[in-house]
Amino acid sequence: MSDCVFCRIRDGQIPAKIVLRDDRCIAFEDINPQAPVHVLFVPLQHIPSNNALTPEDRELVGHLAVTASRVAAERGIAESGYRLVMNNGKDGGQHVFHLHLHLLGGRPLRVMG
Ligand code: AMP
Ligand code: ZN
Repeated sequence: MSDCVFCRIRDGQIPAKIVLRDDRCIAFEDINPQAPVHVLFVPLQHIPSNNALTPEDRELVGHLAVTASRVAAERGIAESGYRLVMNNGKDGGQHVFHLHLHLLGGRPLRVMG
């Protein structure tokens, strides 16, 4: 059994509020939402972080962004705006080392820093 929490969600071993699943990614509600909309987009493939991406992953990362754009529209925040965040490593605030894109919106977001 994987010790990666997002692999375990992918495999149905940990429950999550699944938003969508397709042949390349899974999206689910963040367990500790930082905004009214906080959805995580996670590749099915275990890639630890942005550092581990290769040119072969270009299409996959683009797919995460396109899918996030679709969910933003479905949640009604496409016009009000939102933030896409991918944390990388310790200083980037990454806690789960399985690549993921955060979709945050539904309230004004403070400037990052
Ligand atoms: P990061 O700090 O960028 O690695 O983000 C990890 C995110 O995963 C955090 O926002 C956590 O709240 C979220 N998270 C951790 N465990 C779970 C879980 N079991 N289900 C849903 N979200 C989770
Ligand atoms: Zn994983």
